[in-house]
Amino acid sequence: MNKECRFCGALKWKEEAAGMCCSGGKVALASIDEPVEPLKELFSHETDESRRFLKNIRKYNTCFHMTSFGADNIVSMPGFCPTFTIQGQVYHTIGSLLPATNTQPKFLQVYFMGDEEAQVNRRSEYVQGLDRNTVQKIQQVLHNHNILVHEFKMAKDRVTSDNYKVVIHPDRVPRGEHERRFNAPTTNEIAALVVSSEQTASRDIVIQAHDDRLTRVPDTHRFYDALEYPIIFGKDKRVQF
Ligand SMILES: [Zn+2]
Repeated sequence: MNKECRFCGALKWKEEAAGMCCSGGKVALASIDEPVEPLKELFSHETDESRRFLKNIRKYNTCFHMTSFGADNIVSMPGFCPTFTIQGQVYHTIGSLLPATNTQPKFLQVYFMGDEEAQVNRRSEYVQGLDRNTVQKIQQVLHNHNILVHEFKMAKDRVTSDNYKVVIHPDRVPRGEHERRFNAPTTNEIAALVVSSEQTASRDIVIQAHDDRLTRVPDTHRFYDALEYPIIFGKDKRVQF
């Protein structure tokens, strides 16, 4: 990934088309703001911890992603360097806010576990070989600055019954701004509505409160990537993350 676009600076693979990032400079993309500390240092390449983090960044993301990856048909290809081939459509699914009875919390559910220690323990259990101290730092950043995590916690605290859903509509944008893909969500964009009826639209993200059903996240939804890659898409404009 060492081919740099001379207009926008995007890094691409050598087989990728020249205009796929910014149409040869015709599309002006919003600049990416600096991450807050300690995430900024983790992205710096300047410390041993940072280098270990960047080498394992996919695993760290797996610790924190709120959705899971799926495809119509995944075929494993064994060998010295095991890979897999995907047939059909790729999709992301999201579970309930809280785990079903007698099951361990995973993905999004870990954010609502009892305390900080319990969350770090759970994350270190299902993704092994990571620096516990780094996991704890990222977890604190996401709890303090990630607006999706914040909104989910607010939605969960607003209701006492188990019979509800949290719905995120796809189209809400801040007043006076154009819709911009690839941006992290901001406070005004989230409409995490708590509903009890079955009335939801096909383009909504619908999160059940308390069961073991997985629902598909529409790939057209503007938070599709923010839910799967929280370490990159964690920014909240209020705090310049
Ligand atoms: Zn470009």
